Amino acid sequence: MDCIFCKIVNGDIPSKKAYEDEKVLAFYDLEPQAPVHVLIIPKEHISCAAEINGENSAVVAHIFEVAAKVADELGLDGDFRVVTNSGIKAGQTVKHLHFHLLGGRDFTWPPG
Ligand code: AMP
Ligand code: ZN
Repeated sequence: MDCIFCKIVNGDIPSKKAYEDEKVLAFYDLEPQAPVHVLIIPKEHISCAAEINGENSAVVAHIFEVAAKVADELGLDGDFRVVTNSGIKAGQTVKHLHFHLLGGRDFTWPPG
């Protein structure tokens, strides 16, 4: 499958890793939108949040555990945002489920 994040999981495209285990990978975003901008992805290809279901949702809970751990390791002290964009209108550009972990600055709400 022609998926850049699957290629990152396989090691065919390099990435700067922040965390890895058998189920998930966290790596630094190439175009950071905050002082800390890490992407956390399931190693299994799930195309977007709209495809999360009873069969595959356990990894999402794990991703949030990893987000808290990475945020702590990177010194965010509990202040961070986790975002996933599902679909073109929401701004999804890579069709492999990913959660943006953003921190190190103030954020506005609503996001626009
Ligand atoms: P989204 O727009 O929500 O689909 O987010 C995709 C994110 O992937 C963007 O923030 C990109 O900067 C990031 N990105 C794309 N290719 C790479 C790559 N090879 N390594 C790291 N981050 C990437
Ligand atoms: Zn993929």
